[in-house]
Amino acid sequence: MSESPKRRKPPQKSRPPKESAPDAEVLAPPTTEEREDRWNLRPRTFAECIGQNDVVDALKIAIEAANQRKETIDHVLLYGPPGLGKTTFARIIARELGVQFHGTSGPTLERGGDLVGILTSLEEKDVLFIDEIHRLPKAVEEILYSAMEDFTVDVIFGQGAHARVYRSKLQRFTLVGATTRAGLISPPLRQRFGIVRELRFYSEPELMRAVEHSAGILEIAIGEASSKEIAKRSRGTIRIANRLLRRVRDFAQVRSDGTITPAVADAALRLEGVDEIGLTALDRRLLDVVVNQHLGGPVGIEALAATLQEEVQTLEDMVEPFLLHSGLLARTSKGRMATEVAYQHLGVERVERSSRKAGQRPLL
Ligand code: ADP
Repeated sequence: MSESPKRRKPPQKSRPPKESAPDAEVLAPPTTEEREDRWNLRPRTFAECIGQNDVVDALKIAIEAANQRKETIDHVLLYGPPGLGKTTFARIIARELGVQFHGTSGPTLERGGDLVGILTSLEEKDVLFIDEIHRLPKAVEEILYSAMEDFTVDVIFGQGAHARVYRSKLQRFTLVGATTRAGLISPPLRQRFGIVRELRFYSEPELMRAVEHSAGILEIAIGEASSKEIAKRSRGTIRIANRLLRRVRDFAQVRSDGTITPAVADAALRLEGVDEIGLTALDRRLLDVVVNQHLGGPVGIEALAATLQEEVQTLEDMVEPFLLHSGLLARTSKGRMATEVAYQHLGVERVERSSRKAGQRPLL
């Protein structure tokens, strides 16, 4: 996946030049990447981005300063739960710098040669985006150290006593790393990023703006009350808001007269298994296990994963962050605990551990 703003096709001259000059962008046929962005409802400029103001400001300043000095910007590390905009920001950085975007991910770079091949193909100032950078194999990660710091890589030819090392000079590039798990990035890698920023969950008003903006692009008529219904059930994530909007549109078309009302949105989202605060079946199962099987906790993540038959990583990356953010779950040194809010949401009365134990019937 690489895009090339430099090599964009020139606008087609479909009109005589004298006519009130329409924007060249309008006449240019959309590139594959533009069509993809439209389908993903992905903002293409910082101005189109919703929220994350501190991150946007920091990136804009870095880009403007670098453009004025005709340099490239420092390496950028973006971290936060999935769907908050890490890939989107990386693409915008490349576009604002007017350079090519090259995207890859930690788990796909299995061997050092895979990364060296990409690094040596980069042109001056290009942006290299590595998603899930915490999953880079150690040997591959070590190649990044000199590439990021000195813009060099060591290429080894031959094996054993005949092995020879050639140092190859790279073009100055910007690495944008993305991770859902900043804590898993090793200190030597982390220290090589000049800009380190966390993306946070979006607020309800921001999600409403996102729903209304996406509805405009998709030509869906939606009122404020319905967009609020979708926003409050989107787990603070614009990607989820966009997905739910599409499901609500389908539901309105098939089960109703096509009009989206709060009641239609509610029915559509219940059918999707999303409750009134955005929890999915897995979220509710996790809370249920903590509350009912572990008396509210604390319970370790491994035990939870085993009971739910899910990967620890899925729980840590996809499930827990929103439960922690919305105050349903608390993380302590002994494990995860359900909060009062969780009990209220599940409609379960809290029973103190001691009284539960005292009230337990003997097994024999
Ligand atoms: P990540 O890389 O963090 O998983 P993405 O950058 O792929 O997330 O974002 C997922 C989707 O969410 C995008 O396709 C876009 O539709 C939407 N999105 C993300 N951030 C924003 C933002 N700041 N403003 C508007 N839409 C956004």
